[in-house]
Amino acid sequence: MSGLYDSFSRPISYLRISVTDRCNLRCIYCMPTDGVRLVRHEDILTYEEIFAVAQTAADLGITKVRLTGGEPLIRLGLPQLIRMLGKIDAIDDISLTTNGTLLNRYAVELKSSGLNRVNVSLDTLRHDRFKFITRLGDNLDGVLEGIEMAKTVGLSPVKINMVVMAGINDDEVAEFAAKTIGGGWHVRFIELMPVSQGIVSSRHFVPANEIKKRVETLGELVPCPAIVGNGPSRYFRFPNATGTVGFITPISEHFCFQCNRLRLTADGKLLPCLLSQEEIDVKRALRQNMSTEELRELFKEAIARKPLGHHLTQGYLRLGRPFCRVGG
Ligand code: SAM
Repeated sequence: MSGLYDSFSRPISYLRISVTDRCNLRCIYCMPTDGVRLVRHEDILTYEEIFAVAQTAADLGITKVRLTGGEPLIRLGLPQLIRMLGKIDAIDDISLTTNGTLLNRYAVELKSSGLNRVNVSLDTLRHDRFKFITRLGDNLDGVLEGIEMAKTVGLSPVKINMVVMAGINDDEVAEFAAKTIGGGWHVRFIELMPVSQGIVSSRHFVPANEIKKRVETLGELVPCPAIVGNGPSRYFRFPNATGTVGFITPISEHFCFQCNRLRLTADGKLLPCLLSQEEIDVKRALRQNMSTEELRELFKEAIARKPLGHHLTQGYLRLGRPFCRVGG
């Protein structure tokens, strides 16, 4: 077998890179109510350091990277990092996960720097709710403009990720699904992971089979292949739709058996799993001028420490790092 495999024979081909722990939103399911302690600027990896990690990852077999955060677009000069990553031959896909608030401003530059596509997190189409969920001002129109701009410049497919929460936004499921017919959107419904330390808890959980029933009030869903990427979503479409409907089920039907990823945090830790407490410090290695070979060994260690699966159920889990500091 060539390529990179973990101890359970899962191929590892995907690195999610968090470029900042800072965010310009305070989403109720993601950020603890009392905020998070921010990493000192000097402890955040520089673009050169991120590049060095990505190069090592690529040498070992990683072919896809996704930039995330925090909010990745608030880190200055992100297009520069994208251009650097684009020079790594083995990396054939560079994508970005964003809350979309700054997408309108940066879409053209992101495209020209070599970004392939974007996922936009959007949990409501209502102005008052946008404010409530993000705990900041209403910037819904800005996000919608960003989505259109991303499509216009060809950062496609643009996928819209909605975290469904009972009593908060679950009554909008059909409205989002309708956008796959009328607006050609690719919408993915994500099951809430009860990990936040804020006002959202397991009582807000809606299982994907329930979400799917609500989508099906609009018509019959037909299974379809993923449009691009090899993530955990299961895809469907309405017969007359140009867009697709996806379901991501970390709780009701977890997809750990097909996990193909590692995560790099903004402060330079490799995480074998989103939900475990394990961290491998690569920043120290980078700053102590360890050899490329030693950096590779740290990567291999992170892969060897990937657990078979997570144990998160509908109960509450207190994470060492909230999602906004991992990269979601
Ligand atoms: N700021 C960027 C954004 O909004 O897309 C990237 C980081 S954010 C942590 C990425 C995504 O993680 C969220 O929008 C959401 O889709 C996911 N996420 C965060 N907390 C979650 C939770 N408790 N359950 C399910 N998904 C969650």
